[in-house]
Amino acid sequence: MSNPSVITHDVIVVGAGLAGTWAAMIAGEQGVDVGVISKVHPLRSHSGAAQGGIAAALGNVRPVPNTGPDGPLEQVPPDAEPYDSWELHMFDTIKGSDWLGDQDAIEIMVKDAIEIVYEYEHMGCVFSRTPDGRVAQRRFGGHSTPRACYSADWTGHVLLHTIHEQALKHGVRFYSEWYALDVIVEDNVCKGIVALDILTGQVVLMRAKAVMFATGGYGRAWKITSNALANTGDGVAIAYNAGVPLMDMEFVQFHPTGVYGHGILLSEACRGEGGYLLNSKGERFMERYAPGKMELAPRDLVSRSEQTEIDEGRGVGPDKQGIWLDLRHLGREKILERLPQVREIALNFSGVDVIDELAPIQPTAHYSMGGIPATVDGQVIADAQSTPVVGLYAAGECACISVHGANRLGTNSLLDASVFGRRAGYAMAAFVKGGARLQPVESDAVARNEARITRLMSDAPAGKGESWSQIAAELKSTMTDNAGIFRDDARLRQALSDIRRLQERFQGVRIMDHSRRFNTDLLGALETEHLLTFSEVVVVSALARTESRGAHYRTDYAKRDDEHWLKHTMAHKSPDGPVLSFKDVNINWEKYPPQERKY
Ligand SMILES: Cc1cc2nc3c(=O)[nH]c(=O)nc-3n(C[C@H](O)[C@H](O)[C@H](O)COP(=O)(O)OP(=O)(O)OC[C@H]3O[C@@H](n4cnc5c(N)ncnc54)[C@H](O)[C@@H]3O)c2cc1C
Repeated sequence: MSNPSVITHDVIVVGAGLAGTWAAMIAGEQGVDVGVISKVHPLRSHSGAAQGGIAAALGNVRPVPNTGPDGPLEQVPPDAEPYDSWELHMFDTIKGSDWLGDQDAIEIMVKDAIEIVYEYEHMGCVFSRTPDGRVAQRRFGGHSTPRACYSADWTGHVLLHTIHEQALKHGVRFYSEWYALDVIVEDNVCKGIVALDILTGQVVLMRAKAVMFATGGYGRAWKITSNALANTGDGVAIAYNAGVPLMDMEFVQFHPTGVYGHGILLSEACRGEGGYLLNSKGERFMERYAPGKMELAPRDLVSRSEQTEIDEGRGVGPDKQGIWLDLRHLGREKILERLPQVREIALNFSGVDVIDELAPIQPTAHYSMGGIPATVDGQVIADAQSTPVVGLYAAGECACISVHGANRLGTNSLLDASVFGRRAGYAMAAFVKGGARLQPVESDAVARNEARITRLMSDAPAGKGESWSQIAAELKSTMTDNAGIFRDDARLRQALSDIRRLQERFQGVRIMDHSRRFNTDLLGALETEHLLTFSEVVVVSALARTESRGAHYRTDYAKRDDEHWLKHTMAHKSPDGPVLSFKDVNINWEKYPPQERKY
């Protein structure tokens, strides 16, 4: 059955992870007509893969008194003071961000955290519990208290199911397996999107008063990544092509514990519950890099430490590119209760049982701190002066609000997606109810995207006709080798020239499958084009930033340089490639001035 060629809603949300579904649920609850499109079934969104937890300073759990901050945990007695505060959560997040996070946004996130976890609980979310029935909490890297609320190691799964049900209850219409091709922004006003119904292959104009991007992260530009196949950064590439800037794209987080050779995640909860990292000599090498925090230092630091061990010849595995994760001392019972999914993944992908064997791991591309710049209400901005792109919103991992700055702390992302997804939902509902109108669409966006597909299906000019998969593989190689954990001028220049060459070669890409129905060959080509688009921005931004901060580490500029680089990078598209400008960081100079970051 074919669709109408134009579909209209008050609000269209692209993406059905936590950010998009929260926004849709709230706007629906406010009586606004909402459609959500997702290229995978909504419940297959990457939010559902999150394992470790969601941060909130509930203060339900503390170390047993007189055992020191790393001692065994117990529930806080009912008559005792809570063990945590939003102020402490705020400081940990600012320090984790290497002072690049916007402090006004961080304050909102950590304050709302407490309320949002209880809201999840009241909606029926099955959290793990303390013995007296409160939401249980565990330790996580860079957090100075046990702050991660969790459901064993299935946290994202239970949060996403909870909020998805609520969205259905509020009448939200889901378009499952629809792919956004383009966003229509004319004279700084967003008027809708162009989408492909993957099942029928039809290209449809979707008009709306407000459009929100919640398209998640883009780890798929690297060879080893924890990210789902769908995390190809379509949203950031589409926004950039439409003239929206991208912010802080040089900051990409590598998670310390991906399955060796695959990248699939073994949650940081492994270390939160007390796991060790060992090199080939059996040393707990974190002693050398972060003696105060050991394995629970923030991710940027732990990944760099692992990579240093590997580069200096103390790695494990056939090619010595791995590190051991040791959970054996946690014991069978704790592993089965708290880390059942981790055990299953290690069994399936490495063939080891973490109850009595070491698991080989390696750093894996995990999280994108940068993205589409937006205010704390999800309003997308067009420049460093915060000029709004009217009717366009963004939240979650594709957005940069910016609460994570140069490095995100674990469990702050499910939180970011929930808090700012919800706020964007309220903002869009207010925008629509305040009298926003459907805007006439002048451009030939549908024809332009039809032409894009027709070209990919046409006969190749003589001597051309490459496959997109070859180009994607070469891109992933150069991003891993030259724009990974350690970077320098020469490597980044190499990456840039590789990407530009691959962009040219992409013009010759043709697909084999010429049918319209469920054409995954076509989707692969479109996604590869998006990978090439934003990877160029990552590399140009990384080349410009001649300092090391958070996850962006330049061996040729190993120090943080606040005098020149305490600012956000904004990249605009131009015919000659990304053009950079810079935006001030929001800092409370009296309360949280920049300090040296030590753990
Ligand atoms: C393995 C793993 C474990 C993690 N564990 C944790 C954790 O324990 N705690 C924590 O805080 N964070 C964790 N994170 C990070 C966190 O899960 C994500 O940052 C967060 O869930 C992102 O939510 P989102 O709503 O922005 O996007 P996602 O959940 O990634 O959803 C993106 C949505 O966009 C849709 N989409 C994308 N492109 C298109 C397109 N072109 N057309 C239509 N739809 C499109 C997708 O179909 C999907 O519905 C983890 C991440 C990974 C990969």
